[in-house]
Amino acid sequence: MESYYNAQQQKYGLVELTTRFNDVMMPDIELVDIKDKQKRKRMKGHFSDRLIEEMTETLEDGHQIILFQNRRGYSPIIECETCGHSPQCPSCDVSLTYHQYRDQLRCHYCGYHSVMIKKCGACGSVELDNKGFGTEQVEKEVSILFPNHKVARMDLDTTRGKYGYEKIISTFENQEVDILVGTQMLTKGLDFRNVKLVGVMNADNMLNFPDFRAHERSFQLLLQVSGRAGRTDKRGKVLIQTYNPHHNILQQVSTNNYLQMFKEQMDDRYNFKYPPVYRLIKITLKHRDYNKVNVGADWFAKSLKQVFKQHVLGPEFPPVSRIRNQYHKNILVKIPNKQSLAKTKAAILKINTSFSSVKDFRPIRVILNVDNY
Ligand SMILES: [Zn+2]
Ligand SMILES: [Zn+2]
Repeated sequence: MESYYNAQQQKYGLVELTTRFNDVMMPDIELVDIKDKQKRKRMKGHFSDRLIEEMTETLEDGHQIILFQNRRGYSPIIECETCGHSPQCPSCDVSLTYHQYRDQLRCHYCGYHSVMIKKCGACGSVELDNKGFGTEQVEKEVSILFPNHKVARMDLDTTRGKYGYEKIISTFENQEVDILVGTQMLTKGLDFRNVKLVGVMNADNMLNFPDFRAHERSFQLLLQVSGRAGRTDKRGKVLIQTYNPHHNILQQVSTNNYLQMFKEQMDDRYNFKYPPVYRLIKITLKHRDYNKVNVGADWFAKSLKQVFKQHVLGPEFPPVSRIRNQYHKNILVKIPNKQSLAKTKAAILKINTSFSSVKDFRPIRVILNVDNY
């Protein structure tokens, strides 16, 4: 968004690439309403009948498939059916993800892991429910749906070894694997010539991510992953499974309409005062003592508000407010384009200097971030 805006303002030059290499056609993108499919009992696990149909046909033609799911592990949340408790990381404010392959619960923020629990840690019930799904579960379902085809997985867990990443890529390139399941790792740059079908298992969790850039990022990611389909003569096919097929971003992805996406997102950025219409400085305070962070953040925000008035937002805890035993709290300062960025930065640094001269606040880490985070 920022780059295109800069090009419009003639700060950047604009070079457009309107056709694909060798005039390959853009893939045909189809949205699959999985809410409707569920209602009509046309789902097998996390696969709609449409996706299974297209996969079957693609495999029969001897082509390969990429399945995209933006979460790794088996299921991100284990929940007790009796009391609703779910196991949490002892050092971070997140639930632990179940990894079936190692029978472990793992924290995706700090790497903490423990063996999978047999009963609820709060009430002792053995009725535990898996919520959500990750790449591991998709891989497992594929091997049950297509037992005669080879499936592999590409995510942070399978590419850890020295040549892990290269090995998965070369086995897929050599067509020793028919179906590759992966996270956003497989969205960029890869040129698998025999891939004719890309399936996005669930587009919704990225659209609902609490960040003003979530829609732009979803658009970008979905177009990138779609671009893996049909990079040679035959036209590729992309199926995007979603609960919200009428979501504007998904409509714009399926019609490859960057300009409409840009226009609409710019309206939002304008209305809610976000970049590139406003500059944004994020100030993050971190400390292991919850009260210290709270008191410090209040002091910091109050001082900022004396200078920047209503353009200061927060302090607010982020969605994951404790990582590796450190509490995080954020303050946002929005800067209108006509206000000098240099002067603004100087004023914030001055406040930061007075902040760290208060003895109580000195141990608090302060991180300043302009625009990009
Ligand atoms: Zn953790
Ligand atoms: Zn329980």
